Amino acid sequence: MLPDLNDFHRMLGDIWQSKALTNCGPLHQQLERELQCYLDVPTAMLFNNGTIALLVALKLFDLPIGSEVITTPLTFAATAHAITWNGLKPVFVDVLPHTLTLDPAAVVKAITPRTSAILGVHVYGNVCEIEALECISKQYNLRLFFDAAHAFGVTVNGRSIASYGDASAFSFHATKLFNTLEGGLLATNRPEDAEIIYHLRNFGIKNEEEVVSVGINGKLNEMQAAIGLLNLPLVEEEKRSRAGLKQKYRELLNDLPGIQLPPEQQGVTSSEQYFPIVVDPATFGCTRDDLYDELKARQIFARKYFHPICTDFDPYKGFPIYSVRDTPFVDIIKNRVLCLPYHSGVDDTDLSDIISVFYNKNI
Ligand SMILES: *Cc1c(COP(=O)(O)O)cnc(C)c1O
Repeated sequence: MLPDLNDFHRMLGDIWQSKALTNCGPLHQQLERELQCYLDVPTAMLFNNGTIALLVALKLFDLPIGSEVITTPLTFAATAHAITWNGLKPVFVDVLPHTLTLDPAAVVKAITPRTSAILGVHVYGNVCEIEALECISKQYNLRLFFDAAHAFGVTVNGRSIASYGDASAFSFHATKLFNTLEGGLLATNRPEDAEIIYHLRNFGIKNEEEVVSVGINGKLNEMQAAIGLLNLPLVEEEKRSRAGLKQKYRELLNDLPGIQLPPEQQGVTSSEQYFPIVVDPATFGCTRDDLYDELKARQIFARKYFHPICTDFDPYKGFPIYSVRDTPFVDIIKNRVLCLPYHSGVDDTDLSDIISVFYNKNI
């Protein structure tokens, strides 16, 4: 999603005039206020990307070095890396078949005396089993974090997704629906966190002579803030357009045996970021990879999010996946899930091209 180029030129003019390029300039402050309002959460702090926001989320509570953080392998590599970069150990557990989020029963199975936190991912905007995870984290005295990179603007029974757990990190990368080219945000439910995060985002600097924490450089610059200010008002229309596309996908793919459509969760508003389908090869007659290849041959770029999964990557190879099943469900689903093109640029001709691949079984 890109704003009108003339609007961006006009804002660049303002930046040139002010000569404030970064370090929480006026546009950064304005965007942060608007996002705090949009996400309806006491503390909402902008970051230069979602990964650094996640890194700082885990840094907030001084978790013991080497302690274990339970997470899902069905996510972007940054989720696991943020744990590792904090000197902590990712422990991977299975996902639920319906929402593909952390399986709470598997989480309990993975808890040891060294566990310090749980990091859930609202993958594809599917909301984690928040209540169950909150219960577990209370019972075992663990911190609870969420990677909300896919869940911008999601509400659960009217409550903002950003307000759950100890902290939530969002990504405003160019590939996400709302973007600041690169960018991110850290949200917490405690107003007093704002000052701590403010320092952590800027090397721990409190004033010209005091450094109060081991901070990092997580600052977003004024050009990126300008893009964010121009993109934010465009979000609703993009979401409406995608919701229309989703409706058509649902109607056209609904009767296909072996194709499972994304879940609709009670009381949850959609982030409209992804349209993940699950292909059961035995019933459908060909595999997810066959579909992916055939779409690609026609210049249609679906994505195998998330395949490979984190435990397939070199740094995490050999890490077990805790599960309450004989075979972790995530090892099956990683070969079956496919995110179809999902944005306002997909017109009816594109749509019929995409759909025709599903009905042409001679792949
Ligand atoms: C995009 C993404 C991130 C990383 O965000 P960046 O802004 O690119 O650093 C983290 N987790 C998930 C699940 C993502 O999709």
